[in-house]
Amino acid sequence: MDASSLLGFLPGGRRAPGIKQLLSKLESYLPPDDIERVREAYEYAEAAHSGQKRRSGEAYITHPVAVADILAEVHFDGPTLMAAILHDVVEDTASSKTEIAERFGREVAEIVDGVTKLDQIQFKNRAEAQAESFRKMLLAMVRDIRVIMVKLADRLHNMRTLGAMPATKRRTIARETLDIYAPLANRLGIHSLKLELEDLGFRTLYPTRYRVLEREMKRSRGNQKEFLPRITDNMRQALGRAGIAGQVEAREKHLYSVYSKMRRKKISLGEIIDVFGFRIVVGSVDECYRVLGLVHGLYKPMPGRFKDYIAIPRVNGYQSLHTTLFGPGGMPLEVQIRTEDMHRLAESGIAAHWKYKTGEGDGASHADQAREWLKGVMQLQDGSAEELVESVKVDLFPDKVYVFTPKGDIMRLPRGATCVDFAFAVHTDVGNRCVAAKVDRRLVPLRTVLRNGQTVEVITAKGAQPNPAWTNFVVSAKARAAIRHFLKSLQRDEAIELGEKLLGSALEEFAMRYRDIPRARLEAVAKGLGMADADDLLTRIGLGERMAPLVARRLLPDESGTAAPSSAQAPIAIAGTEGLLVDYARCCFPIPFDPIAAFLSTGRGVVIHRDICPNVSGSRKQADKWIPVVWEKLPHGLFSVGLKVEVNNRTGVLAAVAAQIAATDTNIEHVLVTAQQDDEHSTITFEVKVKDRTQLAKVVRAIRHMPDVQKVERMMA
Ligand code: MN
Repeated sequence: MDASSLLGFLPGGRRAPGIKQLLSKLESYLPPDDIERVREAYEYAEAAHSGQKRRSGEAYITHPVAVADILAEVHFDGPTLMAAILHDVVEDTASSKTEIAERFGREVAEIVDGVTKLDQIQFKNRAEAQAESFRKMLLAMVRDIRVIMVKLADRLHNMRTLGAMPATKRRTIARETLDIYAPLANRLGIHSLKLELEDLGFRTLYPTRYRVLEREMKRSRGNQKEFLPRITDNMRQALGRAGIAGQVEAREKHLYSVYSKMRRKKISLGEIIDVFGFRIVVGSVDECYRVLGLVHGLYKPMPGRFKDYIAIPRVNGYQSLHTTLFGPGGMPLEVQIRTEDMHRLAESGIAAHWKYKTGEGDGASHADQAREWLKGVMQLQDGSAEELVESVKVDLFPDKVYVFTPKGDIMRLPRGATCVDFAFAVHTDVGNRCVAAKVDRRLVPLRTVLRNGQTVEVITAKGAQPNPAWTNFVVSAKARAAIRHFLKSLQRDEAIELGEKLLGSALEEFAMRYRDIPRARLEAVAKGLGMADADDLLTRIGLGERMAPLVARRLLPDESGTAAPSSAQAPIAIAGTEGLLVDYARCCFPIPFDPIAAFLSTGRGVVIHRDICPNVSGSRKQADKWIPVVWEKLPHGLFSVGLKVEVNNRTGVLAAVAAQIAATDTNIEHVLVTAQQDDEHSTITFEVKVKDRTQLAKVVRAIRHMPDVQKVERMMA
């Protein structure tokens, strides 16, 4: 029996079936309620498409009915059939998704919507890698695999009725079918559908090659006629003698697979076409191997041609034993041996799981059924599960999004990727300089999360820089690394600046000024210390990895090179604008104009403490790590400071204190701790931001005399 008729994806050329035939087909497997719903969908679609015609002149409604009919052949469930009938109404008529949801339920509306979205994206770039990405994008867009099934059936019917289209359009559609839809059907294991799509695509795209091949196949079949019955009989008898029940069939070769084999393996037509194909279907795996032994006993096997796809199934779950034998007169015989279950899976793949199931078993959700299929295939895979995960799981349960560049190239990004991720995926320079983005030609914020099938355009500006805030939303490793790299270089600039300050201050000790030191001298000292250049040296000083006084000493003219440091190092002025390399200790919260000291910490730069901080007196031992600092005359910025407020336990007291603080134009950063002291008193710790001690004093004054405030104290470790 021919494979395609097994499942019902019948070859083209038939007249489109009417709704009556469809409904009577459904009677064999769907309950009356479901059939009634399908009829309602038909009536709705017919009204919506009324007046529309297909290019062939037929009423448009014949197309969706035919699509539903294809799916009914393989016993798809009611919602799938309704969606098939409605699949073009959103695209082509005034109906909306909401309306379909109201009339036919969300499930149907979602499938229709999915098909409509797939129809909207177009495959333009023909490169092979692009085709693979495109197939993945289609699958990624689909949450319910029934969408793909409707789409495949839609494509099949369009291919069957392609004749009415103009030649160029026909070729484009055929090309797309061969590049995208036939491999998609194959990936999902729906062999019969794949074969027909390939056959139709091949015939349209290469009519001459198709005709030549067809003629040759006919000739070859003529040659085979006298041998075929003899060989099948021999095999059947061998099975009978061994007591194995099974079917032996001569297998037809499909034109497109013959053609692809010729191209792929660069072999002549004769080498492929004069080959007999057989399929033996038996009851159990055990019998498969026994049958293998039997046929090897009948005819000599060709060395190197045996393949055990039972032990090691193909990626889409296909299982069989393949062997090639030397037949009568040396004619090669290709034999496939499999069980009935394997045969069913080989023919219908994932579609087998959507067949309408009577009784129990149809309670499972469709995602569950997809998983069930996948699980089955995965169990078969055993050792080589990784390949499967790569090629199937990624497709069905995607963790990637696929979007287009304005040129139509497809970019693959991790799920949740934003415009910024896209920009960095295009090129680091594009990411670094991006300022805005357009999605499907509309301007959107850079943080916009991308969805499958969108076209993304990045707008860049000269001199634009990555924003550190981007790290809050980018998801791709590339974007993250690039932004981090940029921030590091930013930090380097700040480190150099601080290094210059520290070195300058150290030099004052020796009555020298930083700006009097020739650059060449600095470079020489840097090299002498094993560093790349002067900037490298300054960076390390700024980062606290090199002690400024020691470097300063090396910069002295030779004669004073051993001079002991004089009295005190000149203090560095802290402006509050130093950036990442000056940190304010959170043990004592220094603010202008507290007396301060600075600790040079390796890799972190300078950490400012109040000089009364216990941590300062505690680590005086590392005297060389402490450097004198003072506040600049007019420091900039806001500084954190902690306030411990002891209050009476009364409802609303926290809010009252907070309001009072806010009334002084002071921002509360955190309410840090509320420690219960006893039944009557609690301590609330506020962290507020102030300019200097004057503002802090204002805050303290504002709350100190509130009726429920017992005590206000500045926090210290
Ligand atoms: Mn359609």
